[in-house]
Amino acid sequence: MAKIKICPVCGSTRIYYVAGMITGEKYRCEDCGYEGSLIMEIDEEEYEEYLKKIREGGRN
Ligand SMILES: [Zn+2]
Repeated sequence: MAKIKICPVCGSTRIYYVAGMITGEKYRCEDCGYEGSLIMEIDEEEYEEYLKKIREGGRN
């Protein structure tokens, strides 16, 4: 099953690989501006569930 890279902050899939550093890879999120080596990698089914959770829990 295909894995999807998503932003750990906002859950966006618009994650772009920026550079390979000595410390590791670096990614950037186009939606919230997050930059870092930590991203979430989940499969498509998990992503559907993740989106549901965001919609349900996003009201506060
Ligand atoms: Zn983001």
